[in-house]
Amino acid sequence: MEGKKMLELFADGQAVTLDQVLTNREWRSAVQQQLAIDFPDQVVLAVKLNIAGPIKNSPKIQQVFMAGWQVIQRACADAAIKKVYVDEQRITGPEAFLVLDGQIKKWKQKLVHFEDNFALGRLFDCDVMTDSAESYQFSRRDLGLSPRPCLVCDDDAKVCAKKGRHSLAAVQAASNQLYRNYFVTDLILPKWSQDFVADAALAACLQEVVLAPKPGLVDPLSAGAHHDMTVMTFVDSAVALRPYFERAFQLGQDCSQAEAMDLLKLLRPAGVEAEQAMYLATNGVNTHKGAIFTLGILIAAYGLAIQGKEATTLHKVLHFVRKISANILENDLVSPNPSDWKAETAGSYQYRTYQLTGVRGEVAAGLKALAQVGLPTLRDRPGSMTNRLLDTLMALAGAIQDSTLIKRAKTKAIVQQMQDWVDEFFTLGGAETAAGQKYLTTLNQTMIEQNLSIGGAADYLILTIFIGRLSGLLSS
Ligand SMILES: [Zn+2]
Repeated sequence: MEGKKMLELFADGQAVTLDQVLTNREWRSAVQQQLAIDFPDQVVLAVKLNIAGPIKNSPKIQQVFMAGWQVIQRACADAAIKKVYVDEQRITGPEAFLVLDGQIKKWKQKLVHFEDNFALGRLFDCDVMTDSAESYQFSRRDLGLSPRPCLVCDDDAKVCAKKGRHSLAAVQAASNQLYRNYFVTDLILPKWSQDFVADAALAACLQEVVLAPKPGLVDPLSAGAHHDMTVMTFVDSAVALRPYFERAFQLGQDCSQAEAMDLLKLLRPAGVEAEQAMYLATNGVNTHKGAIFTLGILIAAYGLAIQGKEATTLHKVLHFVRKISANILENDLVSPNPSDWKAETAGSYQYRTYQLTGVRGEVAAGLKALAQVGLPTLRDRPGSMTNRLLDTLMALAGAIQDSTLIKRAKTKAIVQQMQDWVDEFFTLGGAETAAGQKYLTTLNQTMIEQNLSIGGAADYLILTIFIGRLSGLLSS
């Protein structure tokens, strides 16, 4: 049991036979030959994983592959891409091919850099070829680089393999440790461009709203317990927020890390402008006010944390979330400026009425449910991306004190009720089961009848998708 849990990278994987491995090698060679014929004078990048032992694919192995593949894709974004082929589900292990123009040597250097520097790069095996592959094979030695280090002992990997120095168990444990370091102990977030970050934030808003069936919330099938908006309202709103996402990232990039506590003063006016853009786009409907606040701070914190680095971690980003919002409760809720009193927000009303600190409390505490509930659920739940996201939403709904929900119910007792609903959903097996799907539909009806909505959980889902995309846990 302990051993199985320790090697989660291989959980739910199916062992392959030597025959299957050999057949796959023939398949790969045929694909490469065909690509060389179809695209003469182009460069072919072939990407696969280096997984020892009979289990070569599993849900977690696919997460590893897609996280790295996303980094490789972005490294190639400036090239003229002729063809992309990805099959992450092959039983013999995920594989991808990319055909593009440019110098073979340049691409080989880029991929060696990826293998050596990306946190999971040591599990990848990247080849670069042209139609006359043999004459253009660049080895690491040709490029003046040292051979690839062994996963277990850091010596020359080829020598260790030839001498059979390590047991399969030792190599699997070392591979699993790389997985854990990237996805479990902390989440590693590579450096992305401003465009990529803004796209990830926009995509997070869109993926949240198209997810269905969501209890009480707006989705393409139902407006939930909302009478003044549809899925289209959310699409308009999300698109209107993209400039704000760019701005939030830029503010984080430009701020000195030592002055993170002052960043909120700069972010606030940008947030107010974003709210105006939202109201213009939605004809006055509040679709994303909570997300403007929390996602804006999260994006700025990532901009701060990634300064001068090739990668950062979720813990560092959340450290900056807490820094940015260090004084927020004191300033906004506990002793607000008397001149602001008249324009009391929903947040300050709830604070006085239920002692609920709402989104301000969430950011001040470092968005705890993101690292503790949202991302682990997304990482570990089975099934399609849609079902994993539905499970993540429900897990979040059961874990937080959702201020939208409490406001709608007009009682804090709803928090316990929501937890009971969530427990029942997971007892039925979650979104991947027919019973779980049926339960979501029924719960949606119940929540519409009682005019309930889990807007706070929906905002957390947006944050989870955003970080999921930056880490590659959810890849585009
Ligand atoms: Zn070794």
